Amino acid sequence: MAGRTRPHNPEEINRIRRAGIVTGQVRDAIAAEVRAGMTTSDLDQVAGEIIRATGGKSAFLGYGGFPGNICISVNDTVIHGIGSPRTVIAEGDIVSIDVGVEIGGALGDCATTVPVGTVSRDAIRLLEGTKNALYAGISAAHPGVPVRNVSAAVEAVGRRYDLGIVRDYVGHGCGIELHEPPEVPNYTGWGSGPLLMPGMVICIEPMFTLGGHAVKVDRRDKWTVRTRDGSLSAHFEHMILITEKEAEILTWQKTM
Ligand code: MG
Repeated sequence: MAGRTRPHNPEEINRIRRAGIVTGQVRDAIAAEVRAGMTTSDLDQVAGEIIRATGGKSAFLGYGGFPGNICISVNDTVIHGIGSPRTVIAEGDIVSIDVGVEIGGALGDCATTVPVGTVSRDAIRLLEGTKNALYAGISAAHPGVPVRNVSAAVEAVGRRYDLGIVRDYVGHGCGIELHEPPEVPNYTGWGSGPLLMPGMVICIEPMFTLGGHAVKVDRRDKWTVRTRDGSLSAHFEHMILITEKEAEILTWQKTM
């Protein structure tokens, strides 16, 4: 994530806007396919078809060697889950879908967590808290304020819902590259970061748990990130454009 934090120019913003819209639509189409009884490799295959139908390509497939079209993270998996024929989605699961699409020389990146059928009351609290934290972060993303303000808004909601706030992974700048500066943590206490400026594009992505904040990476696949205590985890993400007024959500989801 080296390099300086810079606003994108109007021509880039046009491309990024389009990529964001496409990526949001792809996320919604994939989320609608999630059902009990299917494997996560089935879902990844469907996701690949949905992405290809847009004329774009997965921004994740091959990124750092990632083997899936999207990240599919079930229950205690926080992020970077890989579709597998051995993972069968079941009633009561929560399934996080993280989607990146590269199209027209720009990128979109966003995530949502889908409940499968009836889930526990605690799972509903987790989903609501994580989603509300995302929108609180977006509401705090005014021009002229430091990244810290976004982090503080996200963190406050996580605490209000009594959720674990994952610290090892953070939001990021986006648009032309998948990961651009600045980092956008979901917690405070690290400093204040750069000031947000119109034209900057950032991904805000709270990753919360029903337990502690600690996570571990799967030793065999080197990707799958799970909660250390086995608690459920949720992940919501939007890519947003900083404007002169309110931030513009580039990966808008009608159903959220
Ligand atoms: Mg992201």
